[in-house]
Amino acid sequence: MAIIDAYTNEVEQTWCPGCGHYSVLRALKIALARLEIQNHQAAIVSGIGCSGRIGGYTKAYGFHGIHGRSLPVAQGIKLANKKLTVIAAGGDGDGFAIGTGHAMHAIKRNIDITYLLMNNQVYGLTKGHTSPLSDLNFVSKSTPLGQVEDPLRPSLLALSAGGGFIAQGFSGKQEELIELIMKGILHKGFSLINIFSPCVTFNPGKGYAWLRENLVSLGEDHDKKDYKGAFGAFLETSGLFTGLLYENDAPDYQSRIPLVSETPLTDLDIKNTRFLDGLIEEFI
Ligand code: SF4
Ligand code: MG
Repeated sequence: MAIIDAYTNEVEQTWCPGCGHYSVLRALKIALARLEIQNHQAAIVSGIGCSGRIGGYTKAYGFHGIHGRSLPVAQGIKLANKKLTVIAAGGDGDGFAIGTGHAMHAIKRNIDITYLLMNNQVYGLTKGHTSPLSDLNFVSKSTPLGQVEDPLRPSLLALSAGGGFIAQGFSGKQEELIELIMKGILHKGFSLINIFSPCVTFNPGKGYAWLRENLVSLGEDHDKKDYKGAFGAFLETSGLFTGLLYENDAPDYQSRIPLVSETPLTDLDIKNTRFLDGLIEEFI
């Protein structure tokens, strides 16, 4: 049996031929399998967009949230059951337009989840509109004369917000992407992996050929623990790099809460807690 079969279900995959998201899906399945995470031990949460289908295409727990809300749902799942490996996934429109507030606070909060930003710099599902991550001068149905704003830069935002694991991958560099997802899952805290995942239909100018030519690898000598150096590496490459930009070992959210039990909420016998009885009495 191929390693990804354990995570493959019967759902028909309807992304366009050549869409970068197929590679993200495959990399996620291989990363989960290599880490020997069983189907019932993983939850994939997505928002709205072409990227939002990734949870439905994976044989694991899944929740397809509404626009920009994958991160609040993912955080709720992790808070309720910290034994689960929780993956949030979404596109640039989903995560850094309507979901920007959630993204920034999830990064700051440092809950132990992995966020796959499937970034194609366009709204694909709505048939090609400019997103907050689209390039300056990008021509689309919503900016026919070209985008006049500069794009948001998720990895820089994450660095500024105190992100403890910030990486960038590319759908066209599958083995590196698998490694980054595995490292992100193993990192104890919030992990952002900003993935260049081409929309071959509505943003062909930022396709595989362009990305292969323009993305550089951070390389072995990049010091991922150097916070100041991470800003430097980002600026030197204009953000066009793949690899692990920055990692620290700050405690994750749940380990900072003294009263949080080692037992997940989902495993507590709530019928026998004095706390619950008192709470009920207060309300009746
Ligand atoms: Fe992928 Fe773009 Fe097609 Fe959506 S529209 S499935 S993002 S290629
Ligand atoms: Mg998009």
